[in-house]
This record gives sequence, C-alpha cells and structure tokens, in this order.
Amino acid sequence: MYTKLLGDVRLFELLGQIDEDLARQARERGCRCGGRLHRACYPRKPRGGPVGLSAQYERRLSYCCAEDGCRKRTTPPSVRFLGRKVYLGALVVLVSALRQGATPTRVGVLHELFGVGERTLRRWRQWWQQVFAESTFWRAARGRLLPVVAARELPRGLVERFAGGGVEQACAVLRFVAPITTGSCALAVGGL
Ligand SMILES: [Zn+2]
Repeated sequence: MYTKLLGDVRLFELLGQIDEDLARQARERGCRCGGRLHRACYPRKPRGGPVGLSAQYERRLSYCCAEDGCRKRTTPPSVRFLGRKVYLGALVVLVSALRQGATPTRVGVLHELFGVGERTLRRWRQWWQQVFAESTFWRAARGRLLPVVAARELPRGLVERFAGGGVEQACAVLRFVAPITTGSCALAVGGL
C-alpha cells in the first residue's frame, strides 16, 4: 500500500499545502522579538518524489526577522522535509516502514522503486530507533499513542497507530512528527 502511495502526486500536493499553512501560521505569529517576518527560503533538491513533483519542493519555507539587530530565523515545522535528509520525509517514514513487519519488502525492490540503497535504509533505521527514539519530542509524544510503540518498532509501529489508510494516514503521521523538523518555531501541529 505504501509503495502506491509514494507514487501518488496528490499526496505530495497535499503535503505542500499543509506546509504552506504551517508557514502562514508561523508568519502571522511573527518573530519572538515582535518583529515582522520576511520570507527567506532554503533551496532544496529533494530525492525520491514521484514524477510531476511541483517546483515548490525546491524550497524549504523559512523566514527572517525584518528588524535590524534581530534578523533571527523562524523556520516553520514541515511535513515535507525531515531535517537535513536529502530524501523527502514521506520516504524516510514509509520506505523505512516497508522494511519492517511480518513480510518486509526486499532491499532490491525498494532500491528499484525509490532509488534508496541498503546503506541509506540502515542509516534511516538507526536514526529512527536511536536518534528519534531518544529525542525529547518522542519521549513526550509517545504516550499519546496506544499501545506504546517500542523503539525497535519505529517507524512502522508509529505509522500503524494512525488510522484512515492512504493519503490521510501519511499526512497524519508526518504532521505528528513535524515538530522535530524545526528548533526555531513552536507551533502546535499534532496529528492526534
Ligand atoms: Zn526578531
């Protein structure tokens, strides 16, 4: 199911809209100093998106304070870009999940479908089960998911706690983890 989803341009369009919405909320709140925010996006060359991915994926939305003497960055949470990873967040979640469970998808198949190799898959698993699992965010948020998701079940266990299937499920998971994508903007984006 996740393989089909990752080829669906609608998912990525919807994620783009969610990011625009999160960015608008961040901009309306303004800088912590009270100053106005100006758009100052980061360029991106994301990997793993479907054919026909919008050009809006070439930038990570971000702002700079307009006040002289402040100029601080405010980067809104994102459901598209998971930290500094070159692959889109949806892949880091769903392709990782495909390698888990009772009948994991073979590495060769994932490589053929998404261009994600064994080394990258291993790195992602380490990130989920060590870095993410130990993060302040996850320690605080995991209690909202029942039954509890063990570190070794990440990220598949996390995905499975969200109902709905398809596009809605993927968006909900990415919204849930979005707070970890920024350290400079605290918006309530929880998906539960
Ligand atoms: Zn400021």
